[in-house]
Amino acid sequence: MHCPFCRHPDSRVVDSRTTDDGTSIRRRRQCPDCSRRFTTVETASLMVIKRSGVTEPFSRTKVISGVRKACQGRPVTEDALAKLGQRVEEAVRATGSAELTTHDVGLAILGPLQELDLVAYLRFASVYRAFDTLDDFEAAIVELRERQPTGDQPGECEAGATPEVPVPATAAD
Ligand SMILES: [Zn+2]
Repeated sequence: MHCPFCRHPDSRVVDSRTTDDGTSIRRRRQCPDCSRRFTTVETASLMVIKRSGVTEPFSRTKVISGVRKACQGRPVTEDALAKLGQRVEEAVRATGSAELTTHDVGLAILGPLQELDLVAYLRFASVYRAFDTLDDFEAAIVELRERQPTGDQPGECEAGATPEVPVPATAAD
C-alpha cells in the first residue's frame, strides 16, 4: 500500500502480529523511499445481510444510531453508547463469521442494552422482536424480572456479582 507520508506506491512489512482475540492482524510497515514506519490493521470484512436481501458492510455507527433512538430521554451518555457499539462489534466479530443478518446484529445489541437501560431495552426489543400486544411487553418484563432477581432478594449478596449500573445524572432531573 501507499506510504501515508510520502505517497510512495509501495511499502515493506517488517513485522506482523495477530491480536490477542485473534480477529485481526497488525502489520508494521516501512516505506522504502522515506524510511518512515506505519501500522496497518487487517480484519475480515464483515457483511450484514438486510431483510431486503441487500448486503452492506457492518457499521458500528449504524448500531449506535439505532440504539440512540431507543435511548431518547433516558439517562444514557454518548460515551456509554460508544462503549455499547464497541461491545457489539467485538461480539459479532468474535463469532468468526464473515456474514451476519440484521437479526444477528440485533441479538448482539440486546444483551449490552439490557445492562445499560431497561426502558431503552424494552423499546428496542419491542421493535426487534416485533411486539404486537401488551402481552408481549408483559412477557418481556416477566423475563427481565426473572433474569434480574437481585432487586427482590436484598439479603442475597454475591461477591463480585454486582451489575454495572450506569449512574444517572441526577442534576438533569
Ligand atoms: Zn514514504
